Amino acid sequence: MSGRRRGLYNAGMRLVSFGPRGAERSGILLGSTILDLAAADPALDDTWRRLVGRGLLPRAQELASRPESLPERARIPAASVRLGPPIVDPLKIVCLGLNYVDHAAEQAKPVPERPLLFSKAASALGGPRDDVTIPPGITHVDYEAELAVVIGVRGREIKEEDALSHVLGYLILNDVTARKIQKDEGQWFRGKSIDTFAPCGPALVTADEIPDPHALDISLALNGETRQRSTTANLHFRIPFLISYLSRTMTLDPGDIISTGTPGGVGVYSEPKVFLKEGDEIVTRIGGLGELRNRVRGGG
Ligand code: ZN
Repeated sequence: MSGRRRGLYNAGMRLVSFGPRGAERSGILLGSTILDLAAADPALDDTWRRLVGRGLLPRAQELASRPESLPERARIPAASVRLGPPIVDPLKIVCLGLNYVDHAAEQAKPVPERPLLFSKAASALGGPRDDVTIPPGITHVDYEAELAVVIGVRGREIKEEDALSHVLGYLILNDVTARKIQKDEGQWFRGKSIDTFAPCGPALVTADEIPDPHALDISLALNGETRQRSTTANLHFRIPFLISYLSRTMTLDPGDIISTGTPGGVGVYSEPKVFLKEGDEIVTRIGGLGELRNRVRGGG
């Protein structure tokens, strides 16, 4: 057991959801195999948010420690299935604006004195290899590579020094944004909540595998050309502060996603401006977490 973090989350696990959209099953990635939890134990037929909330992570961890003893049908070749968002049903997705110094600078804006918070709809979530589909009439669509934190232990008024003990793990999230709607409407919610505009994953990597979430390389390439490259060391408001700050006013629940903001290099502030279009390939990477690889559909 780590001295820094208590108990539950020292398993070094990669939690995934797999299967068709809307009917994903919970699994654990073991190399090139996915352990299908419900096939291994019917009591684990639930979403990751609910499994963690029900205190069943240790049971899942125990099964993952002895996959060869489980029935054949509980071991699925990872390449044979679609991965969905690791958390398919979060109670909330909280996002940060202007949280990297370089991203604020490219807009000639100071980093805000207080966190600039907004939300994305859970229905926008997509899997790590899913298409990003731009609906007819929507223009000026942009990418935003982000490190997202997933809560594992419910809390309110969490102290900064206790905050990381509430973290289940981390994943990559591309906060895809319809810039014209964002600008025209003032409120950011609609332009950031379009279906498929939050591809994430590929797995939820449990916190013990990421000893320092503020020392991760983060990058995004569009059609093979690097557009964003930074490190989470450049996060202005850091994860323990954010968890503490949010929990002063809202209960944080298992499965809640906090996306920590994007570094510089987004399309709208590039020269010339770049927006997503049909056929584009976006590859979003964070050191230790893997990559998202998403194709753009629609958008002209
Ligand atoms: Zn963002």
